[in-house]
Amino acid sequence: MKVWVDPERCQGHTLCAMIAPDSFRLSDIDGSSSAVSEVVPDDQVDLVREAAQSCPEQAIILRD
Ligand code: SF4
Repeated sequence: MKVWVDPERCQGHTLCAMIAPDSFRLSDIDGSSSAVSEVVPDDQVDLVREAAQSCPEQAIILRD
């Protein structure tokens, strides 16, 4: 599975980084999120899916 964050949508709510801290990092400048790695490790898939479902802005895009 692949993941990325749409910077136009992300409002820096931090939920994704709280749910999957190993897969999302937040900018020190504006708090926006980005994926640590485009390819999601198998042991992170469930957490990344949960983060995507929890994002209020639907900014997390997944591709199988
Ligand atoms: S939960 Fe969504 S809006 Fe919030 S920081 Fe993560 S990607 Fe951005």
